[in-house]
Amino acid sequence: MDPIKYYSTNKQSPLVGFREATVRGQAPDRGLYFPDRIPKLADDFIANLKRLSKAEIAYQVIHPYIGGEIPDSELYKICEETVAFDFPLRKINNRIYSLELFHGPTLAFKDVGARFMSRCLGYFSRQQKQKVTVLVATSGDTGSAVANGFLGVDGVDVVILYPSGKVSKVQELQLTTLGQNITALEVAGTFDDCQAMVKHAFADTELTAHRFLTSANSINVARWLPQQFYYFYALQQWQGDEAPVICVPSGNFGNVCAGLLAYVSGLPASHFVVACNVNDTFSDYLSTASFHPKTAVPTISNAMDVGNPSNFVRILELFHHDHELIKKTISSYTVSDKVTAETIAEVYQKYHYLLDPHGAVAYRALDLYLNEFPYQKGFILETAHPVKFADVVEKIIGEEIAIPESIKGLLSLTKKSKLIGPEYNELKEYLTGT
Ligand SMILES: *Cc1c(COP(=O)(O)O)cnc(C)c1O
Repeated sequence: MDPIKYYSTNKQSPLVGFREATVRGQAPDRGLYFPDRIPKLADDFIANLKRLSKAEIAYQVIHPYIGGEIPDSELYKICEETVAFDFPLRKINNRIYSLELFHGPTLAFKDVGARFMSRCLGYFSRQQKQKVTVLVATSGDTGSAVANGFLGVDGVDVVILYPSGKVSKVQELQLTTLGQNITALEVAGTFDDCQAMVKHAFADTELTAHRFLTSANSINVARWLPQQFYYFYALQQWQGDEAPVICVPSGNFGNVCAGLLAYVSGLPASHFVVACNVNDTFSDYLSTASFHPKTAVPTISNAMDVGNPSNFVRILELFHHDHELIKKTISSYTVSDKVTAETIAEVYQKYHYLLDPHGAVAYRALDLYLNEFPYQKGFILETAHPVKFADVVEKIIGEEIAIPESIKGLLSLTKKSKLIGPEYNELKEYLTGT
């Protein structure tokens, strides 16, 4: 079969291979790259899942998407390094399990995509001998995962934009203390401002003539596609007779969209539940079939404070814009801050399981769904360690959270960021001046 190519969701840019899609990040017509066919996993792959190693699963899932542009042995090594930590599926109660995605270096699921992407980009930039600037807007976790994944990678500079005062203390330290090839720009605005500034930079030909830019947000295929891996690791550990209901706390929809991609490729799942905080543009889309971006509202699950989720268009592509089919496959629930906090307290008291605010939104959403379909069981994606949101979580449970070894050193470091306003010209000035 021909290698997979990537088209732009705006349909104005030419088809490209995996390398170009990764290096560009966003298509020139400002659409998102999307594979021109979805590979089907072999039946024996699913049947033998329990016997395969994590690296082997990753390699088999991602291999068709690379189109031969990274040698197989190199790709295997990238997969091995990407998933070199645990992905345990823990039981919370008889019907809800938690897939813990926070055992990587920055304690959030974004480590997987960031580690995969940084290694691919490192490989391509070594091949092309071209210096690249990774420009990334973050609501918290993306920035730290990306910065950590790229730290010290030759030929790559990383510039991170984050909304001032809207990320947690641990997140801010993870973003601003690395140094070397990593710069943090603290923007006096919202995450949507940061994202708009980054999008503007990519479209600015005067700037891109001077500096080779790429993105590391979940719009980049090299970050988005590997997020399929851990859905299979959950299935490896799944004990139920029936396929699970999978509930994903969602912001930019990269994570759930990767799960849906895996599902279309053959991942067994009964249903998907999208869990949102009050930033729930997607719920409106499910009920009305029309999509209206909103201004993001700050919440305690701040990595999901996105009013215009970029990956929404990929869901449309994946299901050929079939609203009925999307509604059949995905449900959505909205969870307020008040209910999120109650959920953290309740699950901690009843089941001795400490959720972070994002996991709590997911837990509640799945619980609501399972109340309607009581014969099913499912798991949530627990996307971050609660210590990343210690300020919020400790107040709710009235106890201190034990700090994992891996971040103890962080707390004594000094933040180093450059404060800028939420206007594009401030970003441009910085990028042309360095
Ligand atoms: C980024 C993030 C999310 C949202 O993931 P999307 O792929 O943007 O939908 C949820 N939880 C945490 C902890 C995150 O960092």
